[in-house]
Amino acid sequence: MEATFWGVRGSVPAPGPETIRYGGNTSCVELRTRAGTLLMIDVGTGAIPLGRKLLADSFGKGGGEALIFLSHAHWDHIQGFPFFAPVFVPGNKFIVHGPGRSSSMLEGILEGQMNPHFSPLYTMRNLGASIEVVAVDGMAKDPSFECAGVRVKARLNPHGATQALAYRFEEEGRSLVYASDAGYPAGGPSADVRALYHGADVLIHDCTYSPEDRALRMARGFSSIADAAQAAVEGEVKKLVMFHYDQDYSDDVVDALGERTRRLLDELGGSKIELVAAREGLTLTV
Ligand SMILES: [Zn+2]
Repeated sequence: MEATFWGVRGSVPAPGPETIRYGGNTSCVELRTRAGTLLMIDVGTGAIPLGRKLLADSFGKGGGEALIFLSHAHWDHIQGFPFFAPVFVPGNKFIVHGPGRSSSMLEGILEGQMNPHFSPLYTMRNLGASIEVVAVDGMAKDPSFECAGVRVKARLNPHGATQALAYRFEEEGRSLVYASDAGYPAGGPSADVRALYHGADVLIHDCTYSPEDRALRMARGFSSIADAAQAAVEGEVKKLVMFHYDQDYSDDVVDALGERTRRLLDELGGSKIELVAAREGLTLTV
């Protein structure tokens, strides 16, 4: 698999000269299977430049297909969708997975941002492409399913007043976990979530805050770099990817958080864990 980051920011876009190195777009990761099938993880505003790129291939001619996996429906994870150009091309097909008790309930939530009070689009049915919405039960006894030759598993993390799905994608013995917007209780992730993370080749983890800022904003339901380092060490992952930086953090602040996360990993016994701070345009081979 190959993962490319198109948006790494949390909560709201943060454009400007102070965020130019890591980028100001909100969450969106392009995941390509070995066969080249496109999986998109979250569709924050990072999906907009990804959409422009996709128009140059089959998505520009109405022959494109992609699987979308939403962690949850907060704005920074869905706001790129009405501006993702391939959805306006008839013939393209998208299957949108996300948390919800039923597919129709999830579809209703996604339709909310198309409401004429918020958008001129009115409904997802006006978009041109075919869009199927599938609810994923993150509490199921066996939360795994097969998509395009990839084994997908999903588990719910607490996220403030709501919950967000963490996903594990496995292909040919390699694994990537995406765990954004995770506000663990004092004891850390649940046993199910720990199992989801365990042994991953790549763990993309919420790193919204410094430990001090998280302590001031516990109710928002995000991780600090210390939460991420602990999850990586306990999960015995090979690579930790920092993700979903607070919108108020400049590039220099994120640089400093990266150095501090390295020290935290080392102190926790995770000196063998590779550390990468996600930035727009970064591609990782999994
Ligand atoms: Zn978010």
